[in-house]
Amino acid sequence: MTSECLFCRIAAGEIPAEVVRETPTTLAFRDIDPKAPSHVLVIPRTHHPDVAALAAADPGLAGEVLATAAAVARAEGLAGPGFRLIFNTGAHGGQEVPHVHAHVLGGAPLGPMLA
Ligand code: C5P
Repeated sequence: MTSECLFCRIAAGEIPAEVVRETPTTLAFRDIDPKAPSHVLVIPRTHHPDVAALAAADPGLAGEVLATAAAVARAEGLAGPGFRLIFNTGAHGGQEVPHVHAHVLGGAPLGPMLA
């Protein structure tokens, strides 16, 4: 936990979020500014800056983030029609919050990602 990290503070319950799923190691909550009918963020409770750092430091936890993302997709009704899973990483990846998070997006056809 770093006190300046927004998502560490959400994981600690210090900043409110609409939580949709919790495990001992991960948390899933609705994006405050949704980019699709269903837009959920999945984070590990512990601080890792991005997905590359998480995979290097704790590949098991990276797998738990993916498992929670898949469970969220099922619970949101996205597993059948499909969904998009994104880890924005670093400046060129458009990452704004430096605590690794998976975006689970779906609920409508999203079209090609790179137009
Ligand atoms: O991948 P990136 O870092 O750009 O995504 C950060 C996401 O966190 C944004 O989609 C933003 O809407 C979301 N956010 C949030 N709750 C906050 C602050 C940001 O859901 N309190």
